[in-house]
Amino acid sequence: METDLKATKEEDKKEKLKTARRILLKLNDEEKELVDHALKECARCWNDIVDIANEYYKETGRWIYKYDLQKLLKHKYDIQYNSCCALTIKYNTARLIASKMKKQGFSKIKYPYKYKEYMTLPLKKDCIRKAKDGNLKLSLGGHKYLLLNFFIDNIKTAEIKRTYSDKYYFYYTKEYEYENCDNNLTQKAGIDIGYNNCIALCHENGNALIIDNKPAKSIKKRRNKSRFYLSNAIKKCTYGSKKYKKLLAASENIQIYSHNFLTDFYHKAVNQMIKYCIDNGIGELVIGDLKNISDKSKKKEKICNKICRIWVSQMEYGRIMKYIEYKSKEYGIKVSKVAEYYTSLQCPRCKVLNKPDGSKYKCNYCGLMAHRDCVGAFNNLNKKYKVEYHGFDINFIAIK
Ligand SMILES: [Zn+2]
Repeated sequence: METDLKATKEEDKKEKLKTARRILLKLNDEEKELVDHALKECARCWNDIVDIANEYYKETGRWIYKYDLQKLLKHKYDIQYNSCCALTIKYNTARLIASKMKKQGFSKIKYPYKYKEYMTLPLKKDCIRKAKDGNLKLSLGGHKYLLLNFFIDNIKTAEIKRTYSDKYYFYYTKEYEYENCDNNLTQKAGIDIGYNNCIALCHENGNALIIDNKPAKSIKKRRNKSRFYLSNAIKKCTYGSKKYKKLLAASENIQIYSHNFLTDFYHKAVNQMIKYCIDNGIGELVIGDLKNISDKSKKKEKICNKICRIWVSQMEYGRIMKYIEYKSKEYGIKVSKVAEYYTSLQCPRCKVLNKPDGSKYKCNYCGLMAHRDCVGAFNNLNKKYKVEYHGFDINFIAIK
């Protein structure tokens, strides 16, 4: 019986997808005052949480339970009690993450200690309602309501946030169900994920989309180079000295910067691809499965030289794949995988294997010339659905 329950739970998880979005709020002065008051109350609540938790820790040597915190905070603030509870949960997770990081050796990490002037206002499901005019109505506590000029269905949780530039954003998470996704996307396309071009897409009618990977490549190059120099310099320093700490921080900063840049870049790249799919009526994507390619490339060390291995390890196949999978599900686009064998070698017209040179593909048998990644994408598609080759019409896209 228990296993049945578990199975259904897992199925539920598979079918639903959580997405987070934000909307810029255009508020008049009156509404701004209302929201500011709530955010300040939130900040007061948060500051008290930080104080109480720290004092409790000093006295007892243990962290306070969140339920005890919630009892202490009840009816003290001019916001919904739900929002208070959400803040304690927020504090708890921040503290747990900090302690986890400390265990991993990040000694700089501190437990939450900062006092806030404005704090993000968390809104639980009960605080979000539908007003009489059909728009959203947010309960800010103390019988005060904020009326918005739009409506979104099935919101799970939401937040109101004030940025440093005095803008107000409404953040919300929502669950999607795939089964209800009806669309008229019927065409098919193949996809090749690579190093020189992060995504190459080939439509069954021959139209192709190629997204350049240059920004990601250059940032990776810079990161690797500077981290190499820094790690050499760190080795020469005495452990724990001022210079040592400075270099270590610089190395960490480079890592964080490049990570953020790459995340942003790949999100944009995949979004562009999905947009292209919807515009062209593509409802199924066939992707070459490169799972465990880096393991294989280590084993076949003699065949795969060092540069090739570095290429494969820096291609980030898994990350792009993950983005494609979840973003396409949102629009009801199917994703299927095929084993990627010789897909970049086979000639799309006469099916003879050729060794490509650089980014160009040339067939020695029939003389066909084409873009190499396009050929890969076409062959991936051809593995699942037999498609005839009519030449490629390529769109190049660069992401800034
Ligand atoms: Zn050929």
